[in-house]
Amino acid sequence: MSNIKCIGILTSGGDAPGMNAAIRAVTRSAIYNGIEVKGIMRGYRGLIYDEIETFKSNSVSNIIQQGGTILRTARSEEFRTPEGRKIAYEALVREGIDALVVIGGDGSLTGARILAQEFNYPIVGLPGTIDNDLFGTDSTIGYDTALNTIMQAVDKIRDTASSHERLFFIEVMGRECGFLALNGAIASGAEAAIIPEMSELKDQLADLISNGFRKSKNSSLVLVTEGNITGGAMAMAERVKKEYPQYDVRVSILGHVQRGGSPTANDRILASRMGAAAIDALLDDQRNVMIGIQNDKIVYVPFSKAIKKNKPVQEDLLRTLKILSI
Ligand code: ATP
Repeated sequence: MSNIKCIGILTSGGDAPGMNAAIRAVTRSAIYNGIEVKGIMRGYRGLIYDEIETFKSNSVSNIIQQGGTILRTARSEEFRTPEGRKIAYEALVREGIDALVVIGGDGSLTGARILAQEFNYPIVGLPGTIDNDLFGTDSTIGYDTALNTIMQAVDKIRDTASSHERLFFIEVMGRECGFLALNGAIASGAEAAIIPEMSELKDQLADLISNGFRKSKNSSLVLVTEGNITGGAMAMAERVKKEYPQYDVRVSILGHVQRGGSPTANDRILASRMGAAAIDALLDDQRNVMIGIQNDKIVYVPFSKAIKKNKPVQEDLLRTLKILSI
């Protein structure tokens, strides 16, 4: 039986819709199990600067439907240093926090893993990122909401694109991971997705123009993952202007709108299940694992696996998109 009497909870890195639902679930599950909860503001920064407050059950009332995170989030350069992490660990000891729940993306879980190893300290992670780039979980908290936001935006762009017979490049988030672009393209009936995972394997733009893109269509919508690997939507449009000047090309960068908004039912349920599972994991003496979901079952994924950045792109999605865009 675990001897955890008090947990700390923080959100770190980029915010994602559903983080509040996760904070609520962790807090209420802990209290239900007789565990005290302390909310740490602004991620690892708040640990270093002692921004910590006691959470009661009603501290998390009326937040399940809110985007963002009531704990705020931050990026902390100090936490990347051994000195910074020592200060953070001392704060945990001083506050009587026996274990930590970290909600964030791969950077935040990398930091959690290092802190856990350096001080032999129990930490459980929840995958909170719109990018869906953590290994070992079918979905991350925030991904479904961002996907729906993208779908609604692309639906609107389609209306204007088809009136003018244009080729539109729509840039979405995801950095090194093409899930948002690929599934966003399928959900919105776009012609193609240009994603990091395929960038080294082939010239996706040349492929699109030669195989997929037909002049007879009213318009073509192509989703492009942001970042250095694909080069982003602007780079695609520049190439088209030079190499295929016959096309009337436009760019739309969706930007931070993808991070906001009220979480979908799927994200709220996922966050609630994962939040409750984090407390179950700690009570079960699990340490240094991320809570994941696979085939609708909660699983524990060691941090070392979750952050390896090798989540494979699903070949059937690529194929489906290609078939449906004829
Ligand atoms: P998102 O995927 O939404 O960007 P993230 O969690 O990956 O979220 P990062 O900015 O990469 O966001 O990381 C958040 C914080 O985690 C950093 O500001 C830093 O404090 C901590 N962190 C990240 N990488 C490390 C590391 N290698 N060592 C220690 N701490 C780290």
